[in-house]
Amino acid sequence: MRPERLNPLFATSASLKGVGAGVMRPLEKLGLTRVRDLAYHLPDRFVQRRAVTSLDEASVGEQIVVRLTPREYRASGSPRAPFRVHAEDAAGNICALTYFGRNGAWAKKQLPLGEARWIAGRLDQFGQLLQIVHPEHVAEDGAVALGTLCEPVYPLSEGLTQGRVAALVGQALALAPDLPEWIEPGLKAKLGWPDWKPALLEAHKGEHKPARDRLAYDELLANSLALMLVRNANRARVGQPLQGDGRLRAKLSLPFGLTGAQSRSIAEIEGDLAQGSPMLRLLQGDVGSGKTVVALEAMLIAVEAGAQAALLAPTEILARQHYATLTRMAAGTGVTIALLTGRDKGRARESILMGLVDGSIDICVGTHAIFQEAVTYRNLALVVIDEQHRFGVGQRLMLTQKGQNSLQGRRTPHCLAMTATPIPRTLTLAQYGEMDVSRLDEMPPGRQPIDTRVVAVERMGDVVGALQRHLASGQQAYWVCPMVRESETDDLAAAEARHAELKAVLGDDAVLVHGQLRPEVKDAAMERFASGQARLLVATTVIEVGVDVPNATLMVIEQAERFGLAQLHQLRGRVGRGAEKSTCLLLRGEALSEVARERLALMRETQDGFRLAEEDLRLRGGGELLGTRQSGDTPFRIASLEQIAQLLPLAHDDARLLIERDGGLTGERGEAARLLLYLFERDYGVQLLRGG
Ligand code: ADP
Ligand code: MG
Repeated sequence: MRPERLNPLFATSASLKGVGAGVMRPLEKLGLTRVRDLAYHLPDRFVQRRAVTSLDEASVGEQIVVRLTPREYRASGSPRAPFRVHAEDAAGNICALTYFGRNGAWAKKQLPLGEARWIAGRLDQFGQLLQIVHPEHVAEDGAVALGTLCEPVYPLSEGLTQGRVAALVGQALALAPDLPEWIEPGLKAKLGWPDWKPALLEAHKGEHKPARDRLAYDELLANSLALMLVRNANRARVGQPLQGDGRLRAKLSLPFGLTGAQSRSIAEIEGDLAQGSPMLRLLQGDVGSGKTVVALEAMLIAVEAGAQAALLAPTEILARQHYATLTRMAAGTGVTIALLTGRDKGRARESILMGLVDGSIDICVGTHAIFQEAVTYRNLALVVIDEQHRFGVGQRLMLTQKGQNSLQGRRTPHCLAMTATPIPRTLTLAQYGEMDVSRLDEMPPGRQPIDTRVVAVERMGDVVGALQRHLASGQQAYWVCPMVRESETDDLAAAEARHAELKAVLGDDAVLVHGQLRPEVKDAAMERFASGQARLLVATTVIEVGVDVPNATLMVIEQAERFGLAQLHQLRGRVGRGAEKSTCLLLRGEALSEVARERLALMRETQDGFRLAEEDLRLRGGGELLGTRQSGDTPFRIASLEQIAQLLPLAHDDARLLIERDGGLTGERGEAARLLLYLFERDYGVQLLRGG
């Protein structure tokens, strides 16, 4: 249970003064549903204003605070024209206070003629006239106005104003309790960091780097601590040592030899499986590096040892594909493999459930359905989770706990997680710190490099021509349209329009797949493409994960500048899977930022996923705002990429030392650390301490 002293922070934002449904909606949009979220809603930047006694001291474009006396109202005939109040400073200069779309009555009330007011805003020029458009503050009291010399600028959403958010943040901060220190005192002193509450207050008041760093560090420390607690708890669990005798693996007839990286990974996994505590291992390998066969070998070890294995895929499409691949590869082994998804109903489902309980099914492939309450295994000893980045740590924990649903008692299954997202080393620590890592850093031989070109969008005609020739030669192609949350409706319309256009040129050969289609429709389209009936797949990023069609050797990516590097890399990995040479055309718009240009150049230059991941991090750290949300994003909300790079290693060490000294978190600092875990909602870490 969450400690009581944190309750005020976890109250709903609706409990604050002045928050009705109308304000709650935009707050929810920003993820600010609780007092805690508002307290941590840190400003993007600050407006710095200068107090001047006369306008002669200020320059046009500058943010100022100045004392002015309204002298005259200037309404104009047209309702579209602004209402102006001419006001005079101490030196006799005239400045217009200009209001668009407001009626004069409102301005007149704020600015009675002859009565001096303190005004904050940006000094502009309108013809010969100095003006301030929509002054941000009008105050009778000098102290109030001068209090706005440094003012936070918060991220907003429609329906909120700066003033409104600032007021709510103020209420939230007033509710923040004092909390004991969880940071190692020596480190805190060395870096000159304030206590938690003062840091929070200061971070809202100005550009106070120590305060911001401290808050970021808290988040990183919470994450590291939680991961380490997960790791410890896992070590303490009872698993099932698995010794395979190799008889099934010997019967595997693979059309290729394993790469060195694959053999090494399999050996690491085999070593883990033989242990008494459950394996917790991440298999990190770029798209096409051959993770599936590694997973199969691992699962065969479990079956050889008389147990069952399950493979969990994030989507229906992937589950089906895995099922087909594994069945094909394992054909000679006599192993029984079943597919179980949420859509299986009735008798078919019943018979699979029976097979899992009586042990006649050795390997079960599926979606979340394979861990539902009703599903019981005779002896599930290994769970493989594919495309790991879709799940957070909390979810991973739940999965392994559900995996305990075996007749053979509450032994925790071994867990092998797989991800195709090459993550920079710093982020691997942040995201998968609780796991051991095997890296497939070597591609299967014989892969031809993908010919990657950047093409200006004006050459669309040529691109469509090349596409037609490509399809006419009997090969298939992908056409990817961007899809960004913020502009979802427009993007969807654009993808649909593009599909219609291409279909008109190509006949019935093009299918469309996007995230808003019903699963049956989506699967049917994918099926047509995978079987070769449809030769072009127009898609938003749903094909990002796992689809394998070796005959597809051309990929066109529209508005490539809107994708992040990691995402472009994932997409491109869909081609270059067969023997034929593959091509990737990155269509780019006209106005490219420097960073976007650099990104596209990198795509042309290298196909090394780990290098692209490092570069992606570097470029994004440079304040790039373009680009869609990226897979493999950080699990942090407060810490910036720069802070992650600098402070995460410190947090990681600090967490390790604390756990070594006080693994039960019962000492004074340990107790404080528990608060921290709750504060950042990593409380699954605390729950594990209760012998979970
Ligand atoms: P991933 O899941 O890592 O993206 P896959 O397991 O789907 O990659 O493998 C990609 C392709 O490479 C598959 O067609 C697979 O059969 C093939 N493959 C895997 N390992 C090797 C190898 N050692 N040599 C040649 N081809 C391989
Ligand atoms: Mg795969």
